[in-house]
Amino acid sequence: MEIGPRPAGSLANRSAAGYIAGEMEQAGYKVVSQEYSCPDWQALCGELTVAGKKMRAVVNTYSPSCDIEAELVPVSSVEDLKGLKITGKIAVVYGEITRTGFMPKNFDRRYYADVDKDWFMELMEQSKPSAVVTVSHYDVPIPVFEDSELNIPSVTVHRDDGMFVVENAGATATLKIVSERRESNGSNVIGRRGNSAKKILVCAHYDTKPGTPGAMDNGAGISALLLLARYLKEVETELAIELVAYGGEDSWFPGDALYIEEYPPDNLVAAINIDGIGMKDAKTMIAFFGCPEKLVNQIIDVTRDYGEYVQGSFVESDHSFFWPLGIPTLAFTSMCMDLLGGVTHTENDTMDLLDTRKIEQTAGLVREIVMIFDKQS
Ligand SMILES: [Zn+2]
Repeated sequence: MEIGPRPAGSLANRSAAGYIAGEMEQAGYKVVSQEYSCPDWQALCGELTVAGKKMRAVVNTYSPSCDIEAELVPVSSVEDLKGLKITGKIAVVYGEITRTGFMPKNFDRRYYADVDKDWFMELMEQSKPSAVVTVSHYDVPIPVFEDSELNIPSVTVHRDDGMFVVENAGATATLKIVSERRESNGSNVIGRRGNSAKKILVCAHYDTKPGTPGAMDNGAGISALLLLARYLKEVETELAIELVAYGGEDSWFPGDALYIEEYPPDNLVAAINIDGIGMKDAKTMIAFFGCPEKLVNQIIDVTRDYGEYVQGSFVESDHSFFWPLGIPTLAFTSMCMDLLGGVTHTENDTMDLLDTRKIEQTAGLVREIVMIFDKQS
């Protein structure tokens, strides 16, 4: 099954959801789809010309269209925004503030918050620039804004081009963006098995950022989840098993808080997330949150039969919604921090980077872990 880029709201995202639901049903799960609205957006063109130089401009996710010519004003801090006049101009946002993305306004701040960036964004919107150019810190420019409620056209440029743009402060630039947007839906696909009130949850997200095939992030995780669905078919468990395929992890989690609202995790004994496993040249990382030491040791013992695992820290994915609630939580990913902006979230995240045996091993390991929790329940 090859689907390609499948951001939340897109047709490809819907067909991925359908495929996953079908696979879960075949493995004997009762499947429900939890729907939410989210826009379907795509960029058709982004062209930035500064001082006669055309540069690669990645349209920031959800940006509206524009066709403008205006003066460039670099800004890197709240102080800049207070001191410089950017109304009707093209603000060039650079420096530390663009190292990581900005949180969209509709994201629930109970889970993460970045007060400084929120303040920067608020001031910027009040200043009404006609467009924004954000400067990436990565080898492949990654959109810095991903806010469906932000009404300022914007693009992200490579850090080298960003330097050139900043050096041309005061010059006139032209920016053309053509994008399309329509109202659409996304979904959590939830497969359940067993009638016990006590349950264990295993999850993975099936969406991608726009423009990336998302093989490692997170086709691999979904493959492991669906393999696990089949492996568990062969065993009896006391615990009910819930497999959740989230459809918007890479669009700032539109379905994650919704899942917890509709299915309060009062009887949830553990949550296990699989996101970004299977890289050929990397070890698989396992991260534990709120698990007793004895349990961690027991699980580490079992990993030896399923390839090489290293313990590490991995905080930002679908599991981040469970451990703050005091639920023992585990997460799997690949141990290579330098993947972001080289592979992760770029067009380079392709099937040839994956070792499918590692995906099978993680599915097998998670099956064992489910059995460990089952025996303890
Ligand atoms: Zn991911």
